[in-house]
Amino acid sequence: MIKIIVCGASGRMGARILELGSKDSKFSLVGGIESTNHPQLGKKILDGKLMVQGDLNLFKDKAEVLIDFTSPEATLHHLETIQNWNGMKTVIGTTGFSSTQKEKIQELSKKMAILLSPNMSVGVNLLLDLARQAAKTIPGYDIEIIETHHNQKKDAPSGTAIALASEITDELKRNPKSDWIYGREGNVGARKPKEIGIHAIRGGDVVGDHTVVFAGQGERIELTHKASSRDAFALGALRAAEWISNKKSGLYSMKDVLQ
Ligand code: NAD
Repeated sequence: MIKIIVCGASGRMGARILELGSKDSKFSLVGGIESTNHPQLGKKILDGKLMVQGDLNLFKDKAEVLIDFTSPEATLHHLETIQNWNGMKTVIGTTGFSSTQKEKIQELSKKMAILLSPNMSVGVNLLLDLARQAAKTIPGYDIEIIETHHNQKKDAPSGTAIALASEITDELKRNPKSDWIYGREGNVGARKPKEIGIHAIRGGDVVGDHTVVFAGQGERIELTHKASSRDAFALGALRAAEWISNKKSGLYSMKDVLQ
């Protein structure tokens, strides 16, 4: 059994990972960590089998993989806390890291195995491949990315929209700084051929929709993924935890898991 700690235990994702992980005999859930002011701190969850705790240090040498779905600052704090723990691996689902924070994760991955993926679902990882394939096949088409999420999501555009834009940008050798356009307002003029438009919609309880539009002369192709529940991400995170449990230090992504 793989011993798991979940950080963000009472969050939308963390709670689902704990619930699904507790039903899978491959995993033993040893810790559920929350922020130190969270109302669920000290409360028992999973039918009394686990208590929500605020101090990650309580679990030193008691776990093999940490799964983190919190915030960029909290994730970095957790990585720094466990960086010298013997053989500890990490699966990071948190999104919204700045480039400096990503560099820090890269640096820490020299010491331990870290898997970082803005979207753990199998379907979205297929969408990333399909978007790259489409960009390669029809390079002259106008490309726009539209993402929709629930009204509590903090970062925009979503990590998945950025991953889609990065995939296409890499394939077409474009430049994120000059070619990525976040929404449009005012007299912006005609669309430049190399633009990749990225648009974030927020509302209701939408789990996560992503569409990549390729618009050409007289036709339009739309590649869409819709998550109908968080289980797609939670199951992906557990699959990633199993995969990374025997890996050496390095920075991995969901693509490595799904190869
Ligand atoms: P949420 O707000 O419901 O949950 C986050 C939880 O983290 C909260 O319960 C919060 O109290 C807790 N937290 C904050 N600071 C903490 C700390 N220092 N220690 C421990 N816990 C702490 O958010 P969510 O919808 O569960 O999403 C969490 C993150 O995961 C977001 O960045 C989101 O974009 C991302 N996400 C990723 C995927 C994916 O597949 N990679 C899927 C969905 C969401």
